[in-house]
Amino acid sequence: MSELVVVALGGNALQQGKGPADAESQLRVVRQTAALLVEIVKAGNQLAIVHGNGPQVGRIVLQNEAAADITPPMPFDVCGAMSQGMIGYHIQQALGECMAEAGLSGQPVTLVSQVLVDASDPAFTKPTKPIGPFYTQEEAEKIAQEKGYTMKEDAGRGWRRVVASPLPLAIVELPQVKTLLNAGFVPIAAGGGGIPVTRQGKGYSGIAAVIDKDLAAWRMAASLGAKTLLILTEVEQACLYYGRPEQQALGVVSAEQMRTYMEEGHFAAGSMGPKVDAALRFVETGAGRTAVITSLDKAVEGVKGRAGTIIKS
Ligand code: ADP
Ligand code: MG
Repeated sequence: MSELVVVALGGNALQQGKGPADAESQLRVVRQTAALLVEIVKAGNQLAIVHGNGPQVGRIVLQNEAAADITPPMPFDVCGAMSQGMIGYHIQQALGECMAEAGLSGQPVTLVSQVLVDASDPAFTKPTKPIGPFYTQEEAEKIAQEKGYTMKEDAGRGWRRVVASPLPLAIVELPQVKTLLNAGFVPIAAGGGGIPVTRQGKGYSGIAAVIDKDLAAWRMAASLGAKTLLILTEVEQACLYYGRPEQQALGVVSAEQMRTYMEEGHFAAGSMGPKVDAALRFVETGAGRTAVITSLDKAVEGVKGRAGTIIKS
């Protein structure tokens, strides 16, 4: 029986760091990513995909703000849904083609996905994630007054709106993801960490927040009973003393040891930190689970346990 691998795709899988952000360039990068991802399926695994959306949703918000005089800007949760559609479309097209070329059945399919968060999550009392355009201090103060947004100075570059990054509690569309997997399709779900929603009666209501995509991938992988959580990013391995002369790349590490390293502060908040956090949550909550943090080009080797940082219980 084939094993389920849940892949979390980082920013570099979707867009070139400093390259142009037009559709053609994005599709080109996604095609390269798809050519590597198809190898995971060829190796006999089932695949489910979670991806980031930071730069993309940022640009959608910007487009909406810039065109506010012409057509009403959409709120942040709706922009998140747009980004899932946009990125998912490119992955469907690119990975679909790679799979067809390899004679593989079961096409990728994007699910606009909501992820449940707790309105009383402590993250809401201290928003940390900057989103959307930069403003002057004056503009920022005006926006804060008019819209009630939290505005913060962002690393000397100007003022921005900041939103909370709450913990993902559940993937709302999990039954649909399961159905797609059982039917042999490759689901692309919880893109950008999912659209954060809270309960509203028998339904849900979108809120302005950003769920970390690595944590959303953990939640999805754990809920699906996946064997492997594969976090693909720019670096081949997580390191101790990252960026210092004594830097040391990590291979196979026990969850217990990795937790100690995390507590010692080896993994930067907002980049490697959430990946290690997601990996540990995944491995520590189920027997026989493996989390792998590696680069795109090592994806298959990573799944086989031959590359990257491999975290096991
Ligand atoms: P993604 O878009 O894939 O989520 P991030 O930029 O958020 O990528 O996180 C990956 C980055 O984390 C790496 O490119 C690296 O610069 C940085 N990083 C921070 N701490 C570490 C560490 N201890 N080991 C390896 N990389 C680290
Ligand atoms: Mg990141």
